[in-house]
Amino acid sequence: MPTPYSFIAPFARPLYVMLKPVGAVCNLRCKYCYYLEKKDLYPNASSYLMSDSLLENFIKQYLESQTTPEVLFTWHGGETLMRTVDFYRKALELQRIYGRGRQIENVLQTNGTLLTDKWCHFFKENNFLIGISIDGPQHCHDIYRRDREGRPSFFKVMKGISLLKKHGVEFNVMGVVNDYNVDYPLEFYHFFKSIDCRYIQFAPVVETIDNQPAPWNVPSGKWGDFLIAIFDEWVKQDVGTYYIQYFDSALANWVGEKPGVCILAETCGHAGVMEFNGDVYSCDHYVRPAYKLGNLQTHSLTEMMYSERQQAFGAAKRKALPQQCLDCQFLFACNGECPKNRIMETSSGEPGLNYLCEGYYKFFKHAAPYMDFMKNELLSRRPPSNIMFNIP
Ligand code: SF4
Ligand code: SF4
Repeated sequence: MPTPYSFIAPFARPLYVMLKPVGAVCNLRCKYCYYLEKKDLYPNASSYLMSDSLLENFIKQYLESQTTPEVLFTWHGGETLMRTVDFYRKALELQRIYGRGRQIENVLQTNGTLLTDKWCHFFKENNFLIGISIDGPQHCHDIYRRDREGRPSFFKVMKGISLLKKHGVEFNVMGVVNDYNVDYPLEFYHFFKSIDCRYIQFAPVVETIDNQPAPWNVPSGKWGDFLIAIFDEWVKQDVGTYYIQYFDSALANWVGEKPGVCILAETCGHAGVMEFNGDVYSCDHYVRPAYKLGNLQTHSLTEMMYSERQQAFGAAKRKALPQQCLDCQFLFACNGECPKNRIMETSSGEPGLNYLCEGYYKFFKHAAPYMDFMKNELLSRRPPSNIMFNIP
């Protein structure tokens, strides 16, 4: 189920750790999935199910460590629906006990194929926000999102979306952009509009196999063209109606606010992840032994998330920028994007350039006049959607 950046990283929150209640176990075998292999970190595990005692320990510590009246829990996979409804019921009960009146929100990311009336009834009853991983219309989605027998999953996901709608469950979508669907930007965008999804996230695939870019990676230049094609439609008719995480985060950077997504932020380290057995890692994309901060059985959450190691991890995003980024006119908007994707060399041979640099540069250059206009509207206390009436 996991897709790059499929956590909705709430950048500005004080302490944020997403949960993996079933580790890397999933009913699908999406070709580009970066998380399935994480099972190999635990070859001797007899089960990948988070225990009730660990769940309670986490919820207690997590709530005690929060300094805001609202607290966000993010359930992530593997496939989160491979737990039972009763597991999440138990979690809600513990949230009530340890929350002591705080407002608690639950976000759950799923591939959508296991949704049933029972699940949707439970989500509606308890105000869950559901994130569905879907890569666009059928021919785009079914390229890589298949089960272990190689069967496509599009119709199952669409059935899940119908159930969410039937029960009135709030949901958003996360689409992965790869070497195939990158050629269909408007079809991709129109598809999400057609299913009436107003909060759209998409993320480019950048993975390596034996230190080489994976064949399903989105080509960097095409990533820029993809963003531009959707941006051009959005900026003409959809600002304020459709929330597109990239565009809103870029605009936030334009006005000097914190972006809603970590990849465009100046530093990392704000979004940890806890595996099924209590191991806590620096980031969902750094679930590797070198980035393990400790285990909840032996270390407190605050100890791990505010540790020097985690702070160094966060600061490294800025400190490790190559000169090309430091000299770039769009550094304030891009921040060199995710360190995980900095697998290229600059033209002068310096390592650490982002694989997607060409695409981002192209996009920011194209969007700059529109962003400048929207920034001016915001600073003048007018809605940025005024851009739609000022495009020749
Ligand atoms: S490494 Fe940083 S930018 Fe990349 S996903 Fe993790 S927190 Fe976000
Ligand atoms: S557009 Fe390229 S050079 Fe500029 S900050 Fe982003 S990755 Fe660096």
